[in-house]
Amino acid sequence: MPLYEYHCQDCQKDFTLLQSASVKKEETRCDECGSGNVERKFSTFASNVQRTSKSGPATMNDYPNKNVFKLPIPKLRSEL
Ligand SMILES: [Zn+2]
Repeated sequence: MPLYEYHCQDCQKDFTLLQSASVKKEETRCDECGSGNVERKFSTFASNVQRTSKSGPATMNDYPNKNVFKLPIPKLRSEL
């Protein structure tokens, strides 16, 4: 089941939810205050960068594939 990170626009809390992929953003409620005014940050299962309409420079959290930095180095070396 995909893991989603959200940011609540009302109380500024970041929270993570395990959700079915069929759950819509509009159906998501803030863990803290129950507001529906939340922004999905990224999915660890996403294959494409899903930028939201927010402004500002991109951060690491905008890229779902940051796990590439955690590849096992010894394995990589053996494949060279
Ligand atoms: Zn909230």
